[in-house]
Amino acid sequence: MTDLPPAILWPLVVFLGLCLGSFLNVVIVRLPVMLMLGWRAEAREALELPDESQPRFNLMVPRSICPSCETPIAWHDNLPVIGWLKRRGRCANCEGRISPQYPLVELAGGALALAVLALHGPTWQGLFIFSACLALLALAVIDLRTQLLPDIVTLPLLWAGLLYQLLFQPLLLSDAVIGAMAGYLSLWSFYWLFKLVTGKEGMGFGDFKLLAALGAWLGWQYLPMVLILSAGVGAVVGVLAQLAIPRLRGAPMPFGPFLAMAGWIALLVGEPLMALYLDIML
Ligand SMILES: [Zn+2]
Repeated sequence: MTDLPPAILWPLVVFLGLCLGSFLNVVIVRLPVMLMLGWRAEAREALELPDESQPRFNLMVPRSICPSCETPIAWHDNLPVIGWLKRRGRCANCEGRISPQYPLVELAGGALALAVLALHGPTWQGLFIFSACLALLALAVIDLRTQLLPDIVTLPLLWAGLLYQLLFQPLLLSDAVIGAMAGYLSLWSFYWLFKLVTGKEGMGFGDFKLLAALGAWLGWQYLPMVLILSAGVGAVVGVLAQLAIPRLRGAPMPFGPFLAMAGWIALLVGEPLMALYLDIML
């Protein structure tokens, strides 16, 4: 896709990854608010209540402001990672704390860009996989913050997975279609069984859609590995988090971040891992 010399290509790709991570932070913080405002407006319409006047709120408007004092953030304090480090995680105006989520998501964007470039080179296929990794990053953090996995992200991710197979591995397209169906239906069945037996809801519908999307990107053969990885990591992190932070005890834990993490692993190093997995299982 590009003939740039490595000395330019690699730093450029990492820089783009950091900047995209910075944009993802905006999506992560604002998308759930935008959805909530939309649902509120729809509910008021259904109840035939008068419209509320809301100030314009989307990914572009208003500008980035400090969450404590609402001062607009200068562009040089908004640079990926550096802006946060420069101010040591505090607002330039009021010294209010700025969440470490911002630099962490930016770093994750840079790291994913680096990993995809190392594994797939500067190819169109790599670009597709990188966008899937970014969508998973946004979903993971949105789920952690709000227990939502918005359809507006999971469903396009699913269709993009089928498009990816159609473009790059057409012979595996049926594996991908089966993967999407099996991903959704397996968790859907588990949800209803769990609900019938215990009367509780074990997970949300967003989890089914996310696993369906991963099935499309990876093919059905990878679903058991994805589930084992996410349940395994989820169990370890869950126990550690509850030991470390007592108020988390008994609190429901989102499953989406672990599915997303397993998705990254499978998208990036799925093939060698699959060989290892089959060695262990067979
Ligand atoms: Zn401030």
